[in-house]
Amino acid sequence: MSENQESTIPPEYNVTGQDYSDRRHFRYVGPPIVDVHAHVFQTRPTDPKDGPPATGPGASTTQAEIMLDVAKEFNVGRIYSMCPAEDIPVLRDRFGDRLGFNGPISKKLDEPDDVAYRLLDRFLELNVSMLKLWSAPRGRERGLVVDAPWRIEAVRRARVAGVRIIMVHIADPDAWFRRVYTDVAKFGTKADQYGPFEKMMTLFPDLIWIGAHMGGDPEHADHLESLLERFPNLHFDTSAAKWQIREASAHREAIRSLICRKPDRFLFGSDLVTRHNLQSEHYVSRYWCHRTLWESDWEGRSPIADPDFQGPEGGPATPPLRGLNLPNEVLEKVYHGNAERLLRLKEPTSQRSSTFGK
Ligand SMILES: [Zn+2]
Repeated sequence: MSENQESTIPPEYNVTGQDYSDRRHFRYVGPPIVDVHAHVFQTRPTDPKDGPPATGPGASTTQAEIMLDVAKEFNVGRIYSMCPAEDIPVLRDRFGDRLGFNGPISKKLDEPDDVAYRLLDRFLELNVSMLKLWSAPRGRERGLVVDAPWRIEAVRRARVAGVRIIMVHIADPDAWFRRVYTDVAKFGTKADQYGPFEKMMTLFPDLIWIGAHMGGDPEHADHLESLLERFPNLHFDTSAAKWQIREASAHREAIRSLICRKPDRFLFGSDLVTRHNLQSEHYVSRYWCHRTLWESDWEGRSPIADPDFQGPEGGPATPPLRGLNLPNEVLEKVYHGNAERLLRLKEPTSQRSSTFGK
């Protein structure tokens, strides 16, 4: 491809030429939005394009600064970040109360269970607000199933130490089950993903559970509703811009009606990730689209490139974004009130004890 052609390719964060300074359709004027699902890291020039960040020298908080500045512009106040334990003191020092932390509990397949328990202890010492169990189908081969015995034990210990909230990534878009997870023996069906999750909620019914990315199933509001009805401590976050734009728009009436009937069970999340060379417009695009989707009746093509969208041949490259226009009292809960209630934002941070020997 020639340099000339390359320069005509629009950036992924704005393929339609959307004017992101046009925010006349934003209605929400309540207290600052809480973003319960983001990945604010220190970044390094050696970071891979995808996946977790590199470690070692050269760490910078510049991208975190850029992202938090953009967040403020969109009235997003506090952000909960999943990041490596070693980033937490640095980010906390730099950004204070604007950040809260979520500790992802995982280990490599061949590592002893103790690796996960030591990681848990580290996160507890750092006083994280919740824990994350990442259990996407592509993690199965690496032993990252949500009900792995070492995860059950980690949750048990965390509960004893006072942790009250567990976020879980279950499943993935229907589109991935059609195109990526076609080997059912290896990945299971989409429905298969939920048994282990339901088992965890049954084992620990007094914990608050947050199903990331609309519980992994914005394609099926009826399924989400049945989960909410059977598990009274289950909540969903609205994160993953491309996925939610594509599917919440396509199932607008069903998703809107579910959120309106269960307004206490949804929490705003972005799933933004800091990466070393991102433009601030990348962060702008996500917050602009999330707010447009939930609070306005804006309709148009999504400005964000979406490789999972398959429209008709010769048609537009991105899916429709059709705003859900949630009522004010519902928005206030989803954007702010539910997070404040569940995360008790004003709770003084008390040092948690180690879980060893418990
Ligand atoms: Zn995430």
